[in-house]
Amino acid sequence: MRNKINIAIDGYSSCGKSTIAKAVAKGLDYFYVDSGAMYRAIALYALQNNCFKKDLSLDEDLLIRLLDHVIVSFKYNTENGQQEIYLNGENVEKEIRSIQVSNHVSPVSKIKEVRQKLVRLQKRLAEAKGVVMDGRDIGTVVIPDAELKIFMMADPAVRAQRRFDELKANGLNVTLEEITANLQSRDEMDVNREIDPLRQADDAVVVDNSNLTLEEQYQFVMGQAIKRLEGVHQQ
Ligand code: C5P
Repeated sequence: MRNKINIAIDGYSSCGKSTIAKAVAKGLDYFYVDSGAMYRAIALYALQNNCFKKDLSLDEDLLIRLLDHVIVSFKYNTENGQQEIYLNGENVEKEIRSIQVSNHVSPVSKIKEVRQKLVRLQKRLAEAKGVVMDGRDIGTVVIPDAELKIFMMADPAVRAQRRFDELKANGLNVTLEEITANLQSRDEMDVNREIDPLRQADDAVVVDNSNLTLEEQYQFVMGQAIKRLEGVHQQ
């Protein structure tokens, strides 16, 4: 049987991690795990269960108490060929992409108990190898032994425009200003949070895709993956 590797793709919000991660997973016939979707699902749960107070701050104790009732899972949709996220058995793939969830996810993702729960699940998903996972702490915390680690970057204005176009295409009513402000505040919180902040792993390969086409990024990451796979087969 062919050996498999794990691929960790980290970086700032909306710099195209998931597009490349999905394409590479498809190219290698690997399992794609969108770790951000898992944090978004818990943020959606927090919104649905009144964990945000009137002043919009998060009631952390309430969310921590409710966490045992939260089941996050993925299921493959045979119609569109995508892994989709489920919250307590319900498909929430669309809901978690709303600007409301984007605006509430950072305070949720900085809670230790939330991270412990999701990191445990993410580690389990990566155990059998053959996983492409994207997020913020994948190469540093979740799969520190991943054979290939990519750290993706892109100019903030390029990122905001891409996210705007993507949400518009999905029929969501947003402005470019809203998106820019949301990305900026999420970057700040991701980099400055105490537990598992966004950091580039020492052994990560940096890809600045501001001026790269999708095809160029895909070829680059696949090339790196194939090199690592050849290394694994020679061992
Ligand atoms: O990747 P995406 O933008 O969908 O992630 C949503 C949020 O989840 C991020 O803003 C970040 O706060 C959090 N996140 C995280 N760790 C990860 C993936 C996402 O804290 N591994």
